[in-house]
Amino acid sequence: MSTPAAAVRKIVILGSTGSIGRQALDVVRSHRDRFQVIGLATGTDRAALAGQAAEFGVTATAVGTDGAVDLAAHPDADVVLNAIVGAAGLRASLAALRAGIDLALANKESLVAGGELCLAAARRSGARIIPVDSEHWALTQCLEGRDRSSVRRIVLTASGGPFRTQLVLDDVTPEEALAHPTWAMGPKITIDSATLMNKGLEVIEAHFLFGFDFEHIGIVVHPQSIVHGIVENADGSMLLQAAPTDMRIPIRAALAHPDHVAAPADGLDLGAVGSLTFEGVDHDRFPAVSLAYEAGRQGATYPAALNAANEEAVGAFLSGLLSFVGISHVIEATLAAHRPGDPLDLDDVLEADAAARAAVRGIIRTRNAVERSDPGVVRRANRAAFLALEPSEAVPTRRSLEREEP
Ligand code: NAD
Ligand code: MG
Repeated sequence: MSTPAAAVRKIVILGSTGSIGRQALDVVRSHRDRFQVIGLATGTDRAALAGQAAEFGVTATAVGTDGAVDLAAHPDADVVLNAIVGAAGLRASLAALRAGIDLALANKESLVAGGELCLAAARRSGARIIPVDSEHWALTQCLEGRDRSSVRRIVLTASGGPFRTQLVLDDVTPEEALAHPTWAMGPKITIDSATLMNKGLEVIEAHFLFGFDFEHIGIVVHPQSIVHGIVENADGSMLLQAAPTDMRIPIRAALAHPDHVAAPADGLDLGAVGSLTFEGVDHDRFPAVSLAYEAGRQGATYPAALNAANEEAVGAFLSGLLSFVGISHVIEATLAAHRPGDPLDLDDVLEADAAARAAVRGIIRTRNAVERSDPGVVRRANRAAFLALEPSEAVPTRRSLEREEP
């Protein structure tokens, strides 16, 4: 049977100047007969946006969050690709879903911070949320057409990041953390991959996308990044999805969904790949994973607070205000002080987000004031001492820090 020529899909790309956005435009370049770009948005990169608009003949462009939110509800769009980084993408996700437009979602932070809101908006309008994240795309493929009772649990693979085999992480620099072994991505997700918070965020993303509880979502470290998702069946067998380490594959699939578009290049040569290896997560060196599971289990606004605290802490690490191991310590302290609420509307989420960011900034200010008055004391202090720093302007004494030493 010959398939009728599929209609050209009209797509809006939010975050078009970033890593995912540029790869999405690459996909469009090689499938001009299937995709047409009708809207482009950037955070701040006007020059790159202008170049893209000229190349793809796009007149609807936007700079900044408000413009992206307007574009997300473009009346002619068949699909909106949200490739904005961070919780800044949540409003745009909600705008697309509320307008009944399918959402190809790279911006996992939308689901972590506002999972309930996104699901409710999709339910009301009938719009679909199609994951772009490679692991979730893999799981979508493995779960397609399956009866839920035949599935025991789902497993996400993690590359393990640049520090998978490094035992001591105290003196890690931003440059080292930005050197990812298998994926080239934007700076925020690259740091998240180094702390493994990316995988923690993805566990929460998977919870909302596939409806599994946290006991039935696992993680396995797989340094080659060839297997992306695993479905464990009730009978003990497993389905593993494998694909080249190339985000254009899930991007293409999400933009075309539910149709299929063949890739211009060949697939994997497993003979050339050689070996695939798997290992467990080292929770001592990568505490971000447990923090994310805990926030996910607690529910309410905990995931929104986790996500915001992480964004703020990663920013501080990249600008030299916080150590690498300090990222998860600050998040832990922020969650411990979080006053949860029900995320009933966007304001509830934004409030939790803002409170968590303020808490992180307070803890870092305090910590750095102590460090300045007594160089080395905070860097030498253990986790308990770090957590004892209250998110306030008050500067604890050296003694109050040392009390926490073992
Ligand atoms: P990036 O930093 O390379 O790009 C981010 C894009 O968002 C840029 O175009 C930037 O201008 C835009 N942006 C930032 N703030 C904005 C705002 N307030 N309003 C409008 N636009 C804004 O990031 P990335 O690596 O492309 O990641 C984008 C998203 O995709 C993230 O949520 C990330 O977790 C997810 N993701 C990325 C990859 C990857 O391979 N890069 C893989 C899976 C998931
Ligand atoms: Mg991923």
